Amino acid sequence: MPSLDEKRFRKAFEFAEEAHRGQIRKDGETPYIAHPVAAVEILVSLKADEDTLISALLHDVPEDTDKTLKEIGEMFGDKVEFLVDGITKLSKVQYQKNMPDRQVESLKKLLLHSAKDIRVIIIKLADRLHNMTTLGNIDNAEKRLRIATETLEIYVPIANLLGIRELKSRLEDMCFKFMFPSEYNNLKKKIDSGREKRKKYVARFIEVIEKEAEKNKIKIGVYEREKNLYSIYKSLCALGKTVDSVDDRVGIVVIVESIKDCYQILGLIHLKFAPLTKKFKDYIANPKGNGYQSLHTNVFGVDGVSTEVQIRTKEMDIEADFGMAINFLGGYSADKAPSGHTNDSKWLKNVVKISEDKEVSENFIEDLKLDVLQDRIVVLTPRGRPVDLPKGACVIDFAYAIHTNLGNHAQKAELNGKLVPITSTLETRDVVKIITSKEVSPDLSWLHFVKTNLAKTKILSYLKKISKVAKISKGKELLQTELDILHMGLVTNLGLKKLNKGLVVSTGKLFVSLNEIFEAIGEGKIGTFQVIEALGNDAVNGESGGKWISIKVVAKNRFRLMQDVYEVLYKYANDMNTFKGWVSKNADMAYFISDVLVKNSKHISKIFHELNRVEGVISVTKTSRRGLWLSVALGSFLALVWIIHPVLIRMSTQSPFGGQFPNLVQNTIYFGLFLMFGALIFYVKLIGKFFPLARKKRSLWFVVFLLPIIATSMLAVEILYFDLMLSWWVIFIEMIFMYLYIGINYADFSRFREDRD
Ligand code: MN
Repeated sequence: MPSLDEKRFRKAFEFAEEAHRGQIRKDGETPYIAHPVAAVEILVSLKADEDTLISALLHDVPEDTDKTLKEIGEMFGDKVEFLVDGITKLSKVQYQKNMPDRQVESLKKLLLHSAKDIRVIIIKLADRLHNMTTLGNIDNAEKRLRIATETLEIYVPIANLLGIRELKSRLEDMCFKFMFPSEYNNLKKKIDSGREKRKKYVARFIEVIEKEAEKNKIKIGVYEREKNLYSIYKSLCALGKTVDSVDDRVGIVVIVESIKDCYQILGLIHLKFAPLTKKFKDYIANPKGNGYQSLHTNVFGVDGVSTEVQIRTKEMDIEADFGMAINFLGGYSADKAPSGHTNDSKWLKNVVKISEDKEVSENFIEDLKLDVLQDRIVVLTPRGRPVDLPKGACVIDFAYAIHTNLGNHAQKAELNGKLVPITSTLETRDVVKIITSKEVSPDLSWLHFVKTNLAKTKILSYLKKISKVAKISKGKELLQTELDILHMGLVTNLGLKKLNKGLVVSTGKLFVSLNEIFEAIGEGKIGTFQVIEALGNDAVNGESGGKWISIKVVAKNRFRLMQDVYEVLYKYANDMNTFKGWVSKNADMAYFISDVLVKNSKHISKIFHELNRVEGVISVTKTSRRGLWLSVALGSFLALVWIIHPVLIRMSTQSPFGGQFPNLVQNTIYFGLFLMFGALIFYVKLIGKFFPLARKKRSLWFVVFLLPIIATSMLAVEILYFDLMLSWWVIFIEMIFMYLYIGINYADFSRFREDRD
């Protein structure tokens, strides 16, 4: 650092060393000065400027020693005084009675100072990173966890917003280590053990690429990019997968001299190795919210090994690690700094807005987390007005962000000119046009998809206002959908006692009727999964890998449908095999069947909901071999009995038995009738449970209505033909019972239908 004023820097060190002399770090032996020095080292690696380094040396002086901020200002100037002041917490004396308030107010001060000079927060991040590396020295486990949580929830997102990947990854992994030690250790072992193999593979891949680049006279540098452990863990969690199923994906970064070379080398790689087109991202033409630029692609590399390749220029690479920091720190000259970043970033303005709120409240931290510290995307209205949303937000979030009525009546959307459902996830630079309909109103299922607090509040407040009857039928429908997915029968057959036993644990409330439970679901007070968990019927208990189930998808055929269905299963299932697809004769419809490995019922539902979101999908069902076998076996048995029963009657009425046991024959036939009645009930239940879609078919109900009539007419013929001594009354009463049962079931079903329509 040729520009460094060595004398001034040395003076700062000596000042800090003297001020902290006699103080010892938590490990009981290291002198305190080692901590500010370590923070300086981190900042040097970020190419921080002189004032930043000096402020880092002095950052704990005013708070922990006799020396004051004023003295620092007099010795090192206003800038340093301002930077150190931003990091220094508010006085303990003033907040003795309410230390949490002191925390909140100190954080506000830190952020307000950072908004004026971003170097404040960068020093704080370096300070926090060193404190995290020595966190093990704190004896109190609760305190350790509190600090790690705070780091993960506040400082990691800030590092991310600033685009300082270097700091973000290191902070994240330290938090991960203290918050989930066993997962951390497992994953670390797994990644460490695969390193040798990956290194060998990377060397081969690099050799191929370098040869290609040389042939085309492009200068490149290639290095392996190891993802940090926490980001691997996060993506595993998001997919509901366990540490065991982490795949050996290799990450490679190719550095070139110009943007033109980026695209050229991309072309060469795609010609050499087959790309997974869906995974291609052009962040050069469309930089990320924090300014990050690069080309991302996934290819089947040497020997078909899945390889993630990132291609960028040298400047972009530096920026990928240091992000916004380079615009504010002096290490890189201004003309080298790429254009992706702007000083007046929107989130900093938001921080100021939230921080300036006079009221001291716990909401400050919550607001900060929800509205500022998430990854953001920027979506455009048809007129080009930018709307700022959290990453993962869907069309509904967008609609509510513009106007409540637009959200309440959003029916579908035009996304970049293409019609999509309102649950579609948005990406930066999407142009969204909402199509409304008076018929549409907020639906509880929307809560699954929305990301913003605003949309959630609006949906819930709308649902609160709707009538009790509507809430009940809504809740019933939602619960039935989940029960159908899991083959758990009809909502009306649920036992209140059993439900209450489970629900009282999770909700602390006893429900007086099933309807009250449905109403609570319909209002969003309890979730369908709380009910399913209360049933204790989480059939799939998947600590050890899970359970295989078979899923069938029916969809309207279209271009790339199979790829989309496959990708959902690949992404969300723990494992899959025997994926099969075929189309109807005129290729209108497509069918897919696959065995997938799932963790639990919630996981099954997640997969179902994601499949249902695929464009064109009509139905998703869990096919059940047990249900199929039971139905086929019962059906064949009934058919067999039906076919041979006239023979039996004939045999029993003729000699040598003929006439000898008239009562026996008569009773057997009565018994047979009741058996048939029982079989019918069982059959309807069986179908309802294992083939929920069949329940919705009118043709099936027609057959059910017809069967008793056919059976009874045949019986009448038999009575006359064989001259049986049967009471017409018994048959009549039996008929009435049967139709009563069918009628009740049908009424239940058609009420559902109306609700749905
Ligand atoms: Mn410190």
